[in-house]
Amino acid sequence: MRKPYLAGNWKMNLDRRSAIELAIALREGVGERTDVDVGVAPPFVYLDAVLQALDSSPIWVGAQNVADQDSGAFTGEISAAMLADLGVDFTIIGHSERRHVYGETDDQVNTKVHRALEVGLEVILCVGETLEEREAKSTEKVVRTHLTRGLEGVSADDMDRVTIAYEPVWAIGTGLTATPEQAGEVHEYLRGLVSGLYDEGIAGKIRIQYGGSVKPGNVAELMAVPDVDGALVGGASLQPELFLPIVGFQD
Ligand code: PEP
Repeated sequence: MRKPYLAGNWKMNLDRRSAIELAIALREGVGERTDVDVGVAPPFVYLDAVLQALDSSPIWVGAQNVADQDSGAFTGEISAAMLADLGVDFTIIGHSERRHVYGETDDQVNTKVHRALEVGLEVILCVGETLEEREAKSTEKVVRTHLTRGLEGVSADDMDRVTIAYEPVWAIGTGLTATPEQAGEVHEYLRGLVSGLYDEGIAGKIRIQYGGSVKPGNVAELMAVPDVDGALVGGASLQPELFLPIVGFQD
């Protein structure tokens, strides 16, 4: 069985003090529970402080993005090796805000995936269609491109460090959530793609998170969908009173 994986993307929010306070509240709320995996992705500048706050906690700490270059004259970028050196566990790659606000391409996403895996990081690879694309009935085509291009050249062995996040862009930060049926259809399609690209064993093991306005009130019905193995949570991950019930959706 795939263990549920609930991750919070804090985006460009909080200050140092509130990031530490949030981390401590989550550390206390999550305790030593092992029935789910939990991760948080603070802004780069607070990674170190959050890593320290979560030192004795099973909660994983991740970055929201990573450079597509190894090192050198790339002003403003943070390399995968730097993240690994800091003790970071994972990085989100290809978030829709990176793709749509900053014009990140599938090529860049793929290079970033390789950079992260090369240094031992885990990866959450985001895929998802815009409203326009859904209305044009291109959802499968879009997520297929995101997934196949994103994973190009990734070995079967490295796939145990990859999680996929299906995040319909129209559901991110909008209060709109994909219905369990809509999420289920895309998750099933994605798992089938992984099976075709690799094999059934890898497809059976890979975790596919859903992301898009996940809240305490809708997490259980989404998690009840057979191919939904977790959630990537934006807004609701900033408040322990919202994120902890999401983590404890089975309680
Ligand atoms: C996200 O940005 O990954 C996300 C899912 O955001 P929200 O939960 O706020 O919709």
